Amino acid sequence: MQKVKEEKALSSVDDSVIGQMFEYNHEQVLFCNDKDTGLKAIIAIHNTVLGPALGGTRMWDYVSEKEALEDVLRLSRGMTYKAAAAGLNIGGGKAVIIGNPAKLKNEALLRRFGKFVNSLGGKYITAEDVAMNSKDMEYIHMETKYVTGIPELLGGGGDPSPVTAYGVYLSMKASARECWGSDNLKGKKVAVQGIGHVGENLVRHIVKEGAKVWVTDINAGRSAKIAKETGAEVVTGDALYDLDMDIYAPCALGATINPQSLSRLKCAVICGAANNQLAQETVQGEEVGKKGILYAPDFVVNAGGLINVYNELLGYNRERAMKQAEAIYENVATVFRISKEENIPTYRAANRLAEQRITAIGKVKLSHC
Ligand code: NAD
Repeated sequence: MQKVKEEKALSSVDDSVIGQMFEYNHEQVLFCNDKDTGLKAIIAIHNTVLGPALGGTRMWDYVSEKEALEDVLRLSRGMTYKAAAAGLNIGGGKAVIIGNPAKLKNEALLRRFGKFVNSLGGKYITAEDVAMNSKDMEYIHMETKYVTGIPELLGGGGDPSPVTAYGVYLSMKASARECWGSDNLKGKKVAVQGIGHVGENLVRHIVKEGAKVWVTDINAGRSAKIAKETGAEVVTGDALYDLDMDIYAPCALGATINPQSLSRLKCAVICGAANNQLAQETVQGEEVGKKGILYAPDFVVNAGGLINVYNELLGYNRERAMKQAEAIYENVATVFRISKEENIPTYRAANRLAEQRITAIGKVKLSHC
């Protein structure tokens, strides 16, 4: 009785660190501080049932420590789901360095951070994320071997975007098969939002297959360049949401599927690279289905980047990474199957796919023979 009471008390202390860890079942959180370099960082390990927790380090000028903690807990949990659904033998983790990268980021700070990563003995493996680049990973690598995303010359995998884009392209094909009975994209009208590293590669794939493509980017030069190269048509501003399109491919920022955009979108499929596309997962995740739109869950679709860094742990080989990314097609198809069989929205089906694998493999690992 006393134990139940204690658990209740802990779980309801929403603002306490352990209360927040309790809510989503995080394993471990490491707070890092170094006066000399000005380093303030948090490393969150969500789940290591499938393997060491892998996830990028983000540097951001958070307004408060509370905001940084919320971000790292949310992101690390997302990594657990992404890795599990992709069939990888890694768990979920993430790190945040608190502060303005333009003012604070330097070799000493990054190397000190690397020492903290090393202190976890491989339970957490870091990678690039917002405001970090491969040079930064090189500094971290000077203090720890538990780092991916290092330059190709040092045995790393280089830019993961071509692998991510290939996975998005295959996911689009799997979505087309689910929606129209054929995975051929020829003649399909696709709007790609965000012509960055992933968007650009994606456009090349789908144009090659004969899709009619619109592109948009807040950097007009980027959309103009790919339009010239591929024959895609440029649209500006948010006019993209009103297009008479078959597939909407969000490849810029998160939260573009929100009440405003959803009231305008007339597509049959949403399938793109951006992380956290649903502004509120439980709200728009339900509404897309009600509108008759097939939503291919972002973390299953964009797993190519993670597959790429995972390959660095095995000794990097781009061909093998691309081959492994082919599994994304079947993963997306499995999500649609679970969604139909269990009559649940696709975002929940994706979560279920991940959770089922963690539970099943967890039991295998508990076995002693
Ligand atoms: P990127 O920064 O290279 O490209 C993003 C592009 O979006 C930029 O060209 C930017 O100008 C444009 N953009 C920003 N806001 C916009 C808006 N409101 N409307 C239109 N365009 C806008 O990023 P990326 O590497 O191509 O990644 C794209 C998305 O995919 C991101 O959300 C990223 O988190 C996610 N993702 C990327 C990878 C990867 O391997 N690069 C892996 C997984 C997920």
